[in-house]
Amino acid sequence: MSNLVKIKKIEHLTHDVLRIVTEKPESLNYQPGQAADISLNKEGWEQELRAFTFVSLPGDDYVEFNIKVYPSHNGVTNQLLSLSAGNELFIHDVFGDIAYKGKGIFIAGGAGITPFIAIMKDLEKQNKLGGNKLIFANKTKADIIREDDFRKLLGNNFINILSDETREGYSHGFVTADLIKGQMNSDLNYFYICGPDPMMEAIEKQLVTLGVSQEFIVREGF
Ligand SMILES: Cc1cc2nc3c(=O)[nH]c(=O)nc-3n(C[C@H](O)[C@H](O)[C@H](O)COP(=O)(O)OP(=O)(O)OC[C@H]3O[C@@H](n4cnc5c(N)ncnc54)[C@H](O)[C@@H]3O)c2cc1C
Repeated sequence: MSNLVKIKKIEHLTHDVLRIVTEKPESLNYQPGQAADISLNKEGWEQELRAFTFVSLPGDDYVEFNIKVYPSHNGVTNQLLSLSAGNELFIHDVFGDIAYKGKGIFIAGGAGITPFIAIMKDLEKQNKLGGNKLIFANKTKADIIREDDFRKLLGNNFINILSDETREGYSHGFVTADLIKGQMNSDLNYFYICGPDPMMEAIEKQLVTLGVSQEFIVREGF
């Protein structure tokens, strides 16, 4: 089933990430961490479905997506750049298996943060966020989505790593087994990973070398 919704607000969160807020259809149900196929109600684009994750919570009276755009490529995200409030989107099927199972270390790359935005908002609402950690990998500081929000939510449990920029207070390079090991403790059983495929593969290998068994690895590929 698909729902046609009006865009209420569309703005830049970072230089290449849009925040899109739409109406919430009454029949729409989803869990924190889940995504939906989205298309544009624009001639020629209605059947071009792409997956985006809800960063709003199921109880909110609006729907929000945070979407990284690829303007060098005439795909759906480039088209989103030409939309404004009042334009419409189709929200098609809801799907996605990533969900909170217990305290752990969340590891995200770039737009791979989106399922964790919803999951962490939900945990905060239930007073269950404490102790969880987030390792967020980006190219530069300018690419970090919602940095201030995560700092407020997580304090010292928010660890940033930048691959293309050296900055005080931020680790430099890619996520390594040593970086993960330095954050591990006996309360944090689960490892939640979401990002581009090469990053996911590298981190899964690192977790195996650190002795983490598959049942404690929760993943979503982007
Ligand atoms: C379950 C799930 C949830 C997701 N949730 C989100 C989310 O919440 N937010 C978000 O930002 N993304 C999310 N994604 C990723 C998102 O679906 C893709 O970024 C999106 O489909 C891109 O659509 P597009 O039509 O713009 O590009 P497509 O045509 O689908 O191609 C996108 C890919 O092409 C590459 N590319 C860029 N420029 C070029 C070029 N010139 N030529 C060829 N290739 C190029 C990019 O690296 C990119 O990976 C999610 C993906 C999945 C599977």
